[in-house]
Amino acid sequence: MPDRPGWYSHELCHWHDPGPGSGYVPVGPGVEPLRQFAVDPDLRRAEGLVRASGVLDLFTQVTPTPATDDDLLLVHTQAHIDRVEATSALGAGDAGVYAHVNHHSARAARLAVGACVQATEAVLAGRFSRAYCVVRPPGHHAEPDRAMALCLYNNLAVAARAARRAGVERVLVLDWDVHHGNGIQRAFYDSPDVLYVSIHQDGLFPPASGSVRETGAGDGVGTTLNIPLPPGSGHEAYLAAVRRVVEPAVRAFQPDLLLVAAGVDAGGHDPMGRMMCTSRTLHAMTAHLCALADELTGGRIVFAHEGGYSAWYQPTLVLATAAAIAGLPAPEDPFLHSLEHLPGQRALPHQTRVLDHLRAHHPLLAAS
Ligand SMILES: [Zn+2]
Repeated sequence: MPDRPGWYSHELCHWHDPGPGSGYVPVGPGVEPLRQFAVDPDLRRAEGLVRASGVLDLFTQVTPTPATDDDLLLVHTQAHIDRVEATSALGAGDAGVYAHVNHHSARAARLAVGACVQATEAVLAGRFSRAYCVVRPPGHHAEPDRAMALCLYNNLAVAARAARRAGVERVLVLDWDVHHGNGIQRAFYDSPDVLYVSIHQDGLFPPASGSVRETGAGDGVGTTLNIPLPPGSGHEAYLAAVRRVVEPAVRAFQPDLLLVAAGVDAGGHDPMGRMMCTSRTLHAMTAHLCALADELTGGRIVFAHEGGYSAWYQPTLVLATAAAIAGLPAPEDPFLHSLEHLPGQRALPHQTRVLDHLRAHHPLLAAS
């Protein structure tokens, strides 16, 4: 049983709102007003489920403070920060590409980054060994010079740089959000000190991003590792990816700190992805990474929420993640029966082919 992990969240993160639209598309020709996916009564409900279950009582709750300009400038340009602030001050508009904001968004985005940076610093200081940042807006699509796809600042990229600033030599960022984390990849593509590993749905978003052929550049060759799984991949394919590719890559890289972009939109009920993960998948992956941290980094690991758009399943998936971080067994899942019997939950040959390819050809794995 670990010591009490840290739980980072802030009410203002729930006040960020991209405005009326349908799905992720703003109101316009052919688009009726509807609550957008990224508006978060659902994430607040997720925290409510964790609290009602009693699991939140096992965490130490921390209220983060907004990230400073010095933090944001570890990854982002001043022009990008200025655009987010100015667009949010107007009360509406796109701060980048599909990155609509409201009056509260700039502060919510600074709180999301602040949570990840402060959780990382707390873990490095030994206050917690594990932490979970349940924050909005998400971060992994945000690039150094532009917001993208609901992401304003790159929460975990800034946290990884903050860890380096604090003297940490090598950082792993593992990203199991269903989309490819182009922003994290771009921030560290030529960096030998940060290994970015992404498990995502092949070709989903951004287009032409996250191929197995993207393995880093310059001094960073081998420190980008993309695992694009075909649509329909479920529990066994994800666990095989973790065991057969992620774990050996982490062992080869020998990081001092693990950061996890723990989106839950690979869940089987998510409207944005076409994957079939269940609460058991999220719990097993989280527990596996915590055990790896216990072995390799003195337990130091920080999880941060990213995407998650199923109104009814996101809370269960966040609860499963939280339960694993707290060292508890997988929680009750009233929705499990609707997913676990589906044939794609088995690891099928077309799903695991990419794992064989990576083990044979990725610079970090082929050399080990
Ligand atoms: Zn996503």
